[in-house]
Amino acid sequence: MPIRLLMGNEAIALGALAAGVSVAAGYPGTPSTEVLETIAKELDRHAKTGIYVEWSVNEKAALEVAAGASYTGARTLVTMKQVGLNVASDPLMSLAYIGVKGGMVVLVADDPGPISSQTEQDTRTFAKYSKLPCFDPSSPEEAYQMIQDAFELSEELRTPVLFRPTTRLCHATAPIDVQDVWKTVNPEGFIKDPKWVIFPRLSVKAHAELEVRNRALSKQLSDYKFNSVEGRSEAFGIATGGVCYAYVKEALKRLGAEWVRVLKIATPFPFPQPLALDFIDSVERVFVVEELDPVIERELLYLAGSSGRTLDICGKEITENLPASGEYTVEMLTEKIAAYLGLPYEVPQAPILPPLPVRPPVLCAGCPHRASFYAVKKAMSGKKSVFCGDIGCYTLGNALPLDMVDTCLCMGAGITIAQGIARAQADTTAFAFVGDSTFFASGITGIINAVYNKNDIVLIVLDNRITAMTGGQTHPGIGKTLMNQPTAALNIPAILRSVGIEPRVVNPLNLGEAIAAVKAAAAESGVRAVVFEYPCVNVEKPSGTVSVNTDKCTGCGLCRREIGCPALKIGEKAEIDGSLCTGCSLCAQVCPFDAIN
Ligand code: SF4
Ligand code: SF4
Repeated sequence: MPIRLLMGNEAIALGALAAGVSVAAGYPGTPSTEVLETIAKELDRHAKTGIYVEWSVNEKAALEVAAGASYTGARTLVTMKQVGLNVASDPLMSLAYIGVKGGMVVLVADDPGPISSQTEQDTRTFAKYSKLPCFDPSSPEEAYQMIQDAFELSEELRTPVLFRPTTRLCHATAPIDVQDVWKTVNPEGFIKDPKWVIFPRLSVKAHAELEVRNRALSKQLSDYKFNSVEGRSEAFGIATGGVCYAYVKEALKRLGAEWVRVLKIATPFPFPQPLALDFIDSVERVFVVEELDPVIERELLYLAGSSGRTLDICGKEITENLPASGEYTVEMLTEKIAAYLGLPYEVPQAPILPPLPVRPPVLCAGCPHRASFYAVKKAMSGKKSVFCGDIGCYTLGNALPLDMVDTCLCMGAGITIAQGIARAQADTTAFAFVGDSTFFASGITGIINAVYNKNDIVLIVLDNRITAMTGGQTHPGIGKTLMNQPTAALNIPAILRSVGIEPRVVNPLNLGEAIAAVKAAAAESGVRAVVFEYPCVNVEKPSGTVSVNTDKCTGCGLCRREIGCPALKIGEKAEIDGSLCTGCSLCAQVCPFDAIN
C-alpha cells in the first residue's frame, strides 16, 4: 500500500473509493467540498470508468440521486456541509424508514466555530433525531478506515449511515497508507418491491424496527475497534470523541498525564452503552470533552442516572467547565484538563506582537458583485428600499461602504424574504440578490412563488459564472460537469422568461447602463429582474490595471469611499495597488475628475 500525504477530505474520498463506491453526489460547502473533487481527480488519474460523480443542484437532489443508485445495490456517497443536511433532511428522514440496498454513506461536515457557516449545528444530534447510525472520526488516518466500515455497516443493516468529520479533520493533512485497488461491487439491480414506496402503514412498522435495531446496535458498537477505553487511572476519566480525542491526547501528553482513563466515542449514535457503562464503573469522576452539543455528556448522565451509578460527571451541560459553543483548541483544553486533574500548569505566555492590521472579509478587487451592488445603490439612492441578500461571496456586500445586504438567512431565502417584506410594507421596494449557483440550488422555487402569488419584488441575479464562495465549482449554468463532460449550459434569462419574467441583462461594469436598468426595473411593478452577467475575477484573469493621472486627481477619496475596492489607496492622491487591481474600471467610472485611466 503506498503512503500518501493526504488532507482529511482526500483520505475520506480515497476510503470511499477503496470501499467500492460507484455513485457519489453532493453540493459544495466548506468544509466538505474537496471530497467529491478528489473522487473526480482520482477517476481521471486511474482512467477509471464505471464510477460516477456529480455536483448536484443541491443537497436534497444529491441525496435522492444516491438513494436511487443505492436501491439498485450500488454503493453510494453523498457529501455536504452541516447546513446542507437541513436541505437534504426531507428525503433523509424518509430514507431512514425505507432503507437502502447498496451501502450508502451520507457525509456531513460540521463546522465548529463556525468558520464558514451560518450555524454551529451538530450532526451527531441529527443522527439521534433521524435514528441513523453516525461515525465520528478523530483523524484523517482514522477517517480513511472508518468510512470503509461505514459502508459495510450501511450495507449490513440496509440503512443510510451518517459520517461526520469536522473542519480541522477535513483540512488537516497526514501520511496515510492507501489501497490502490478498489473494491468492486456488482449491483444486483433494482428489484421491484412494495417496500420502496413509503406509506403510513409501513412507516409505523419501520419505526418500531428502527428502535429495536438501534438498541441492538448500541451493544454491537461497543465492540467496534474505534470505540475504546485506554489509560489506567481508577480515579480520573475523560470521555471524548471526534477531533477532540486528538486534542485530549495531546493535552494529556503535555501534562505528562497519559495515565488518565480515556473513553473514545467513535459512534455517538447509537451510543455504545455497554462500553460506556464499563468506563463509568472504572473511574470516580469523568470530564466530558466535546465540541458543539453535549451529546456524549448527556448519554453518560442518562446512563449513570438510569442505572443508579454514583460519580461526578462534568463538562459543558451542568457544570459549565467548557464553553457551550465554538471551536476548542489544545491550549484551552490543556488548561481545563490540568484544572480538572489538579495538576500545576502554567499557561505559556504568548509572545508580545504588534497588533495585526484589521482585515475584514471583503469582496475581491475587481469583483463584479461590487459593481452590481454599487449600481443598485446609486439607482435607489434616496428611495425606500430593502436589500435581501443570500448565501455566497455576495453576502460580503453587507460591508461598508457598500452596505447593500440587509438580510441573509439561508440558501435561496433572499427571494422569499423580499416577498414577505413587500407584502407587509408596500411603500418599500424589496430587492432580492441571488448568485447563479444559489439560483439553481434553491432560488427557482422562490421565484415561481413570487410569480404565482403576483408579488412585487426586484430580483437581481449576480451571475459570475461559477460557484465562487467554495472555490470555483461548476453548476448547471456552466456547460461542464464535475467529470469534465460538456453538458447543456442552462440560461438564467431564458429560465426567467419561461416563468413570465422578462429580465434586463446587463454587464455591471458598464455602470451607466447598470444603473439605468435597475431604475427602470424599480419603476415597474410585479416580479422584475435584472441579470448582471460578468465572470468572477478568479475565472477570467484580468488583462491589465488602471493608473491614476496625478495631475487630475484631487485626492478627494471619493473612489475609495464609494466602492471600497481593496486595490485603491488614498494618500495625498489616489494610488492603485497593481498587484491587486484587475482593471475592472469601476473606480474610473466613479471618479468625477476623470483622473483614472
Ligand atoms: S481618483 Fe478621482 S475619486 Fe479618486 S481620489 Fe482622485 S480625484 Fe478623487
Ligand atoms: S479598476 Fe479600480 S475598482 Fe477595479 S480593481 Fe482596479 S482599482 Fe479596483
